[in-house]
Amino acid sequence: MAAAVPSPAPTPMMAQYLSLKAEAGDCLLFYRMGDFFELFFEDARIAAGCLDIALTARGEHDGEKVPMCGVPVHAATAYLQRLIKAGHRVAIAEQTESPEAARKARGSKALVNRAIVRFVTAGTLTEEALLDSREHNWLAAIGEAGGEVAVAAADISTGQFRICAVGADGLGAELARLHAAEVIASEAGDLTDAATALRPRSEFDSRAGEDRLKRLFGVATLDGFGEIGRAGLAAAGGLVAYLEHTARGALPFLRPPSVAAAQESVAIDAATRDSLELTEAQGGGRKGSLLDAVDRTVTGAGARLLAADLGAPLMDASRIEERLALVGFFHDGAGARERLRGTLRALPDIGRALGRLAAGRGSPRDLGQLRDGLDGAWQLGERLAGVEAPPALLVQLAPRLRGHGALIDLLRRALVPQPPIDAAQGGYIAAGYDVALDDLRDTGAGGRRAIAALEAELKAQTGIAALKIRHNGVLGYHVEVPARAADPLMAAESGFTHRQTLSGVVRFNTPALHEVAVRVSQAGAHALAAEAAHLEELTAAALSSREAIADTADALARLDVAAGLAERAAEGGWTRPRLVDRPCFEVEGGRHPVVEAAVARAGERFVSNDCRLSADKRLWLVTGPNMGGKSTFLRQNALIAVLAQAGSFVPATAATLGLVDRLFSRVGASDNLARGRSTFMVEMVETAAILAQATPNSFVILDEVGRGTSTYDGLAIAWAVVEAIHEVNRCRCLFATHYHELTRLAERCDALSLHHVRAREWKGDLVLLHEVADGPADRSYGLAVAKLAGMPPAAVARAKAVLAKLEAGRSKTGGLAAGLDDLPLFAAAQEAEEAECDAIRAEVEALDVDALTPREALETLYRLKALA
Ligand code: ADP
Repeated sequence: MAAAVPSPAPTPMMAQYLSLKAEAGDCLLFYRMGDFFELFFEDARIAAGCLDIALTARGEHDGEKVPMCGVPVHAATAYLQRLIKAGHRVAIAEQTESPEAARKARGSKALVNRAIVRFVTAGTLTEEALLDSREHNWLAAIGEAGGEVAVAAADISTGQFRICAVGADGLGAELARLHAAEVIASEAGDLTDAATALRPRSEFDSRAGEDRLKRLFGVATLDGFGEIGRAGLAAAGGLVAYLEHTARGALPFLRPPSVAAAQESVAIDAATRDSLELTEAQGGGRKGSLLDAVDRTVTGAGARLLAADLGAPLMDASRIEERLALVGFFHDGAGARERLRGTLRALPDIGRALGRLAAGRGSPRDLGQLRDGLDGAWQLGERLAGVEAPPALLVQLAPRLRGHGALIDLLRRALVPQPPIDAAQGGYIAAGYDVALDDLRDTGAGGRRAIAALEAELKAQTGIAALKIRHNGVLGYHVEVPARAADPLMAAESGFTHRQTLSGVVRFNTPALHEVAVRVSQAGAHALAAEAAHLEELTAAALSSREAIADTADALARLDVAAGLAERAAEGGWTRPRLVDRPCFEVEGGRHPVVEAAVARAGERFVSNDCRLSADKRLWLVTGPNMGGKSTFLRQNALIAVLAQAGSFVPATAATLGLVDRLFSRVGASDNLARGRSTFMVEMVETAAILAQATPNSFVILDEVGRGTSTYDGLAIAWAVVEAIHEVNRCRCLFATHYHELTRLAERCDALSLHHVRAREWKGDLVLLHEVADGPADRSYGLAVAKLAGMPPAAVARAKAVLAKLEAGRSKTGGLAAGLDDLPLFAAAQEAEEAECDAIRAEVEALDVDALTPREALETLYRLKALA
């Protein structure tokens, strides 16, 4: 370990630290000292707090004690994980020479050279332990050029790389879709707010970006990738530059970019994504999301692809039909589905193993995973090639599963069945692969046999039955005897050399042992070196076909998604949607997959509902009591649109759908109070965005819009929004509201129809039927809901009185709240008195005298007395 002598001037070590820290910038610096990574100054304070480890001090700098904390190198991954999760980035400074080498080169007090070897950031991870196997880990870069905006995104754990031109108003939607672990942008751009890290402007230059991509892929022109655009080049350039920066110049493993236009998938903005809980529930996490309710994939890669599919439903009917046909194939063939899923379940994640190998952090086990995964894929490919009347997508996928015969064969011959993660101990190259290695191992094994023989010989010679030959890292091979028997061996003429005395045992060496030990250790070192060389060759062999391997991994993932969706459809009785070329939305017996599961858990039955939107009845106004099922109905239809265009069957008995180009979902402000923004403002901003963006092919659900303000304002706004959607946007729309007055819109808007969720009052109690029926709701049942919710009878009675007043006022003037003016709410004493009487009457009426115990009767009397 390097010495740090406290002194007023920076010690050499401190000087080295400070220069590395300057290079690390705003990343925490992990400074390697022997078996620890140490952090100093502010870094130490941050890390100690975040990791809950002791903050100590070391030496002085500028007359102040230097705060320090450290983590052991062998456990560093777990600590890194916590720091990254907490939003930090870390620069790793390793010792780049051994202390001996430093002393030899620069004298006994020499400081060991150190350098930053890597930046660990949330978007650039490849370590298995730091990643969720079922989630993509995207790094996104925002590029701007000439008024255009594009996003480049890479998941370097698998090499996926995409570039998408989004336009300024599509940026939020694209970033929300990716749900990137890290977002970078130029520090000089206009879109710095969206980024988690800012990078120099020069890295986002479109011309430099073009050069970087050409260099990375070894091509003279990028034309083969499709039309990228200047903003796309800027974004991709910034992305690649950042990856090179974090890997300290090593070229990242990226597959050729897939160049997407935002118009390829349904536009779903961030607010809609949140509100529909497509891949994440509103409380955070996957539980409760559509993804969670749909996902029956059996591999990490399948789960990642499904999340991507649900996040980006397609716009191209023929691609959707291809996916649907494959799901249909596995849906109808339960046997084939089960076999496929059984096979896939056993396959390792070859995409991620490849990512680690490509990042230079691969292990023998990763090669073993490639071997087993590719072998499994091959066999699957053989089986699928024999299928009768295969759907088109299967015909495309099957050949992509086979094609690594030579590599599989090589890895099979070269590796032991279960190669270890750690290469340092060797033992992963199979016997018979390399004669020279086998010889070295024989020598080693021969030596070990010789040592066993020597042990027996020494036992006999000394008469010490407990004598043993042992091995450890410090002494190497040595003779160990119990302390009580050691004396005779201490004598000079015994032939034993004393090495170490511990409590209870004494350790010695002998010339014969030394000679064998040297032979064994040399053979061992040579064998290790030979294995390491093979590891390198094999890795290179695998990487030389990395594109093809990644392609096989994709094909496996696609099969897993299709079989998983088929499984889900079979499980829930889902149906294949029929896609048509007109803006309709006809769903029979539709269900909400998440709410259905929740309702089933509560032991109840989910009520399925139809929805029939067409060009001339494109707007449904849904009224009915709170808790009646309006939101559920709205959302289930939006989710059915998402599922269908992602290529999934849908939870319904029949569905005929015209493709949706944009999907919007807005929920009235009061549901979102927890988010602590000016919620009404947010609601209005979001609603404005819909009115500005929805096209005749869009699908919009609006739930209680206008609720976040006063009744007059709210009603007026809701009214105007419905009219605008009906007259201007002309999109398919479901609008839920508790404003009864809106039903009058049906008289002026001919494509609007009225519907309600049914409820009944039965023996004074409200029964919610969750059934969507035609026509307006006859009444609002608000008070009945209040009662259902457990509001005290006195308050309910009071509300009834107020309602009667309001309604009397309304019938006089014909206006919504016209009666409010002459209603002296809770203020007037007379009113209060009346209310008290009502409250007492309500209490008395609610009494079941026969059911009361004497004690309850007494308590009731006290309560009534208090009310009077
Ligand atoms: P609203 O929007 O009218 O206030 P919600 O859609 O939020 O009502 O539904 C309230 C609750 O009613 C849900 O949480 C669910 O438990 C239940 N529910 C809704 N729709 C159905 C249905 N179709 N079948 C059974 N239960 C339902």
